[in-house]
Amino acid sequence: MIIVCKNSAGTKRIEELTNRFEAQGFRTHCSQGTQSTIIGLIGDTSKIDVEDVQALPIVEKVQRVSEPFKLVNRKFHAEDTIVDVNGVKIGGGSFGVIAGPCSVESEEQIVSCARAIKAAGGTFLRGGAFKPRTSPYAFRGLKAKGLDLLLTAKKETGLPIVTELMSLDHLDLFNDVDVIQIGARNMQNFEMLDEIGKCNKPILLKRGLANTIEEWLMSAEYIMSGGNENVILCERGIRTFETATRNTLDIAAVPVLKAMTHLPIVVDPSHATGKSALVPTLSKTAVVAGADGLMVEVHPNPSEALCDGAQSITPAVFADMMGDIRTLCAFEHKSL
Ligand code: PEP
Ligand code: MN
Repeated sequence: MIIVCKNSAGTKRIEELTNRFEAQGFRTHCSQGTQSTIIGLIGDTSKIDVEDVQALPIVEKVQRVSEPFKLVNRKFHAEDTIVDVNGVKIGGGSFGVIAGPCSVESEEQIVSCARAIKAAGGTFLRGGAFKPRTSPYAFRGLKAKGLDLLLTAKKETGLPIVTELMSLDHLDLFNDVDVIQIGARNMQNFEMLDEIGKCNKPILLKRGLANTIEEWLMSAEYIMSGGNENVILCERGIRTFETATRNTLDIAAVPVLKAMTHLPIVVDPSHATGKSALVPTLSKTAVVAGADGLMVEVHPNPSEALCDGAQSITPAVFADMMGDIRTLCAFEHKSL
């Protein structure tokens, strides 16, 4: 970390500051310029809050030279993390396809959807039982009953299930869930991240609606620092000024993340665009961008869906799209 002191700082106060950092176990290196003094701070500065240092009266500017995240950082873990869900893998050359309806609505809906997804080559079944909805009057999921129906569909098809945890109060109900999804709205629910860090289930961590890549990685760091190393990141679009799509898919986040972290990255073109017609194209784009998987909303009858019908593709479109995804995975040397 580099701290630029104000011209007016004076040697005494600069010395007090360097003594303070040294007492905390850092080494310091001062470079005296004609205009200002620059303090180089050497050591693990990840615990230092840049804003706190910036607020000191003698400080002009603070610049980090290393990232504040360690466990998720590729610098300290060069190989790709492979998340293995009972033999179904995501990361390190294995491509995962998570598909299913936005919400579990009935046994018939989820089982028929699961069968179609399995037949088309999907590797995980998704479906919301506890739904985050903007309106309290909208369909908010079948809750515990929805989880039971997901388990029925898993029994029928063998597909591992991915579903969203909305409250730590429900964690006990998630014992048989294979991958716990932390939705965009809870990406910075730090108490929740601490708790799921202590469980040993794989976590799908969606990007927050308006969060930077660094903030997202810091949330993954919360989970990993609790001891849970099975974290999958999911890019699902961010809020921008653009209104033509529900969100803006930050496709560049995929190669950017690949350089920054060893964790697998999945792309969700359904929530990113809000438009079913765009889903196959952006799914293909995700493979070429280097993603380790997809999360796609599939509904047997999108026009009757209780949630997110406009962005849900039919099983037929999904099957068709999977042909292209397989071709592109082969091109990218990924196994599906
Ligand atoms: C979902 O996956 O159904 C969902 C609500 O996603 P997000 O948290 O990305 O909005
Ligand atoms: Mn949805």
